[in-house]
Amino acid sequence: MGTECTYCGSDIERHDPVYVNEGENDRTNQTGQFCNYACLDRHIEDESLTSGDACEWTPES
Ligand SMILES: [Zn+2]
Repeated sequence: MGTECTYCGSDIERHDPVYVNEGENDRTNQTGQFCNYACLDRHIEDESLTSGDACEWTPES
């Protein structure tokens, strides 16, 4: 996996990266990486519009 933002494709290393993991494991279950919380927020909005099951997502775990 590179260092491109999951949402906008920018190099996250140039910003303040935010990583999203699914479940208890760390990088092995990484599902997204973002420039900052703004990109993360937009991505979550887009995902919830299509899947409608984002209720189990936890931002700080
Ligand atoms: Zn971004």
